[in-house]
Amino acid sequence: MGIHSTNKDFDVSSLIYYGLYALQHRGQESAGIATFNHDSGLNYYCGMGLLTDVFKDDQIKNLVGNVGIGHVRYSTTGKSKLENSQPFVTDFDDGFISIAHNGDIVNSARLRKELIQDGYEFQSDTDSEVLCYLIKREHEKNDNIIEVLETISKDIVGSYSLTILINNDLYIIRDPRAIKPLVLGKKDNVYIAASETVALDVINAEYIRDLEPGEIVYFDGDEVKSHILEIAGRFPLARCMFEYVYFARPDSIIDGKTVYEVRKKIGEKLYEEYPIDDADVVMPVPDSSIPAAIGYSRASGIPYAEGLIKNRYVGRTFIMPTQEEREMAVKLKVNPLASELKDKKIVLIDDSIVRGTTSESLIDVLKASGAKEVHLMIGCPPVISPCYYGVAMATKKELIAANFSVEEIRQKLGAETLGYITIEDLIDAIGFDREELCLGCITEEYPTCIPDTATPESYYKF
Ligand code: AMP
Repeated sequence: MGIHSTNKDFDVSSLIYYGLYALQHRGQESAGIATFNHDSGLNYYCGMGLLTDVFKDDQIKNLVGNVGIGHVRYSTTGKSKLENSQPFVTDFDDGFISIAHNGDIVNSARLRKELIQDGYEFQSDTDSEVLCYLIKREHEKNDNIIEVLETISKDIVGSYSLTILINNDLYIIRDPRAIKPLVLGKKDNVYIAASETVALDVINAEYIRDLEPGEIVYFDGDEVKSHILEIAGRFPLARCMFEYVYFARPDSIIDGKTVYEVRKKIGEKLYEEYPIDDADVVMPVPDSSIPAAIGYSRASGIPYAEGLIKNRYVGRTFIMPTQEEREMAVKLKVNPLASELKDKKIVLIDDSIVRGTTSESLIDVLKASGAKEVHLMIGCPPVISPCYYGVAMATKKELIAANFSVEEIRQKLGAETLGYITIEDLIDAIGFDREELCLGCITEEYPTCIPDTATPESYYKF
């Protein structure tokens, strides 16, 4: 999140807090807010855990300032620890720079080495700190921030949606390939940047537009200014398909496409590809697969049912560090409802299979509860390669589809049918051209070079 108000006495921290609340699904490891006030300067607080664990009333009240940024973290580069929480803050000759970053800089290891040689001391192991010092180093030579951002944009490769606070100036940036989402909204005389439109909805702000690929939005008093990076247009776009498949909230609209509608179409396509017309029910793995299950059910006429009841107080299980914990977490997360399952022939819809842990446990649980047959349909083509742009997809060794054929996976999971959506149908359901999407995790063809010093195995710790 990033918020700018022209009224110097208006505090933006509570709007940032509520916006982050709507974005909590994007990261549950740490949360932080930085604001700038004309009298007290930079105010900053962050901590480990969910937003509500980190911020209490007083902490929000103390974060005075008419401009600010906020972040909820889910780690890809860098461990889950307090030093790595964001916004990352550093001082420089004229004040403070703070950064909230969504994405991953694939050449950050090399840039970090160069900065260390130049005398920068790192407090964290995140690529966001790298970005901060790149800005700081360039700013020492040049006062014009747009020129500074132009210069560093030529050095950094990867995905980045950024909100940057340089004292009381807010800069909002989207990478030239538009890998990560970023929108601009408005509420009275307050401008808001957020990763997803749901953050605008919750604070009753009006959506203005998605940021253009390679765009910097900044403010001059009341005036909203826009600058397109020179490198924009040099590369094909690479919007992340996984935002539509799993990551974003269904009620968000990314680059003009409603995530819920895309997921419903995924369900319809799955029915066209794999019609199980004599099934008794269509069931989602809650919550992320509900729209796709509705799509399959409506297209087929097979009744929709809930046979797995989700414990709302359990977060995304993928984050658990060990396999044993992940298995237990699946059971904690969903409980079977025997009355909907007994003797039924079930079409079970999930958004994706990564390691296969979730599907295997769920099929065991459904069958133990009396399900006669389970036909598993997956809304994402086989994930065969890691993501280097900010989605923790595990290493190639752990990705079930990188190591086994679809038939082998079906047997391992114990499903009667296993149907993955095809790449073509997924592209159709999203509604962009293939050339505008990043499909790296399902095609192994990446829109950029991949990390230069880290091996895929060391890149993600999970
Ligand atoms: P797995 O059990 O490893 O096959 O993980 C697949 C399940 O985790 C699916 O049900 C997804 O809803 C969810 N999932 C997929 N990718 C991610 C991710 N990058 N982070 C968190 N959860 C994910």
